Amino acid sequence: MEILVKGTIKKAIFTQNKVKIGKKEIPHEDIKEIKYQFGDWKQNGFLTLVINDKDRLANTLEGSIWNKHSIRFWFTQNDKVKAILKYFDGKIAITDVKLIKQHLQESGTMYCPRCLSTNINGKHKGYNTAKGTVGMLLMGRIGLMLGATKAYDIKARCNDCGRKWTEKQR
Ligand SMILES: [Zn+2]
Repeated sequence: MEILVKGTIKKAIFTQNKVKIGKKEIPHEDIKEIKYQFGDWKQNGFLTLVINDKDRLANTLEGSIWNKHSIRFWFTQNDKVKAILKYFDGKIAITDVKLIKQHLQESGTMYCPRCLSTNINGKHKGYNTAKGTVGMLLMGRIGLMLGATKAYDIKARCNDCGRKWTEKQR
């Protein structure tokens, strides 16, 4: 097999026993997992080869930008990526990150928009006179349930990748 995926910045060549991604060569046995999202007409897709812990955080298009073992690609490369996934099916864990995101959204769990981690620190922005709490700290890997506190936006920080953002309450 030899499949070439033209990424937006670098390319990846998948052959029988190794992957060349940018200038790096990775033997198949070093790949613990493959994460991917297909591209469409308005957004690039990406593919991450999980070799180390850093790669585990490259779960989104944003998170894949600076990751050495990730490539981002136009939707025109989707078929090539499909062929690669088919080749590795049953040999290496393959994760469609879209499904993870969907699951997190459906369960109402707060997650990091960059790495999809649920290891989040959150602080309410507002002052809640009724309850008398200022900046109530919500800690840890607890899967904050958004439904429980509708009134205030939450200033959130990801404990895994350091991303900060404001979680809008719906
Ligand atoms: Zn994160």
